[in-house]
Amino acid sequence: MRLHTTCPTARRAWTVELRPGSGGPQLVCQQCDHRGVLLAAVSARSAALEHLAGHARRDALPSYLRTCQCHERGCRWHPRHRGCAGPVRLLLARERGGRLWRLADACTACASVTMQAAVVPETFLRTTVAAADGASRRRKRQPKGPGDQVRVREMLSYLAATLPGHTGAATRLLAVQCALRMNADGQVRLPIGVLHSLRLGRDLLPWTELEQARCLRRTPACPGSESGGTIAQILDGGLFAQHPARPDRRKAADWALRMATVGGVSAGDPALRLTALCLAAHTDFSVGHGCVEADRIAHECGFVPEALTLVLGRLATSLASWSVALDSGDLRWELPPGLV
Ligand SMILES: [Zn+2]
Ligand SMILES: [Zn+2]
Ligand SMILES: [Zn+2]
Repeated sequence: MRLHTTCPTARRAWTVELRPGSGGPQLVCQQCDHRGVLLAAVSARSAALEHLAGHARRDALPSYLRTCQCHERGCRWHPRHRGCAGPVRLLLARERGGRLWRLADACTACASVTMQAAVVPETFLRTTVAAADGASRRRKRQPKGPGDQVRVREMLSYLAATLPGHTGAATRLLAVQCALRMNADGQVRLPIGVLHSLRLGRDLLPWTELEQARCLRRTPACPGSESGGTIAQILDGGLFAQHPARPDRRKAADWALRMATVGGVSAGDPALRLTALCLAAHTDFSVGHGCVEADRIAHECGFVPEALTLVLGRLATSLASWSVALDSGDLRWELPPGLV
């Protein structure tokens, strides 16, 4: 086994702490002199991610030199381990009840078992780099990038780490739509049709939950506006940074709406719709199967693991099969042939 104390590889892990201060909570960086009072309108995770992403950009490395920082530190950031595997991505983790935020390179295996953590969508760093050189506005939009499924999967992962654990399923479904549909100014307008598809109707609780989580703020509709729907300003900096390629994100949002009710999933139950969406986001559609740790799916849906089993039981008519392996904790499922 390799010792890591004198490891010459780059330390691509950065941490900020939230400390109480006389003028309000302060964001204190463990890498640089940064010490900033947290503004009331900005969530801790947004401020933390903004700052940490700056370090990640400045300490950029070619992907072949990036290593799993979790492994470098003996895999102490997660409870169990079956060896590092998969591509290295940036993982945002929340610790000590949100008093500590860490951004680090982590392999897919470590990332998937780290609680209170989410892979930061690749678009996040790319966007900020592009915006910094000042020329991005003149460039033609590149419709390339992750497909609908990857966008939605990354968004579910990101939201799982950033929304409070008790956030309800309907609120998570709404958050996915808002994050993917907002414009370059961080504003989102959800038309009546989307609200119907989300089965929100007059239910304001999901909006209130997102406001309490400081993700967004609803804004009154312009007088004379006939379109109806709901307008909101996104406050989350992490989501905000993904504004380019909006048509692609809207397409992914439409995909998410469809997948939440595909195969006759009961539209009235947001927990079923969110689980169906989450499974779709992790399904290998070339074969119609999926296999992911059950804990991860539960985390992305905001369920305790026992609740996931109950939901899967109720979702059974929309799945050809599903099972959880007792030894590995892997959830395997298969979609009905007509859906693949
Ligand atoms: Zn710093
Ligand atoms: Zn690890
Ligand atoms: Zn690893």
